[in-house]
Amino acid sequence: MAILDKLEHCAATNYQICTDPQSDRNSFDRPLGSPALLRTVTWNPGLQTVIELGCGDDPTGPVLRDATASLLHELTHAAQDCDGLEPSEYEFEAVRIENIYRRAAGMCQRNGYGDARLPRQMIKLCSPGKCSCTAPADPTDRAMAEVHPVTQSRPLADAVSAGDARPVHGLPPR
Ligand SMILES: [Zn+2]
Repeated sequence: MAILDKLEHCAATNYQICTDPQSDRNSFDRPLGSPALLRTVTWNPGLQTVIELGCGDDPTGPVLRDATASLLHELTHAAQDCDGLEPSEYEFEAVRIENIYRRAAGMCQRNGYGDARLPRQMIKLCSPGKCSCTAPADPTDRAMAEVHPVTQSRPLADAVSAGDARPVHGLPPR
C-alpha cells in the first residue's frame, strides 16, 4: 500500500504500466530527460518462468515468477525512482518487498537477486504452509554470546547489519 500511495502522489514524474504478453522479462525503464520523462513498467502477467531454485527447506524447489509479485517488484523500482534513487542499485530492496507479498500469498520466497543472496537482515523464514516469519539465526550474535555472554553488543550487531545492507551494484535490471 505504501508503494502504491507513493506512486499515486509522486510529484517527480509519471508512471505507466504496459502489459506485454510477448516480453520474456518484466522491467522498469526511466528515460533520461528534463523535465522527467514518463517512466514505464513493462509487465508480462503470464510470465511464470523459474527465477531460481530453493524454496524454504527444499533446496531444489523452484521459485517461479508470479504476475502480482513481479508487478510489485517493478513498482518498488518506480517508488525508488520517485525518491531519486537509482533503482538498479536497490535490487535487494525490491526483492525484499516482493517477498512480503510472496509470504502473504503462500508462495516460495526469492533468496536473492541473480547470484547474490539477500542479506540476512532482509530474510524472514517462511515456506508455503510453514511461515514462522522469524529472522534466521545470527552467526554474529552467537559468536558474541560465546565470547561475551553478559555484554552482548547490540551496537556492534547493528553496525554489521548496516554494513551488509549495501545495495547491489553492477547487476542488470531484471
Ligand atoms: Zn529489480
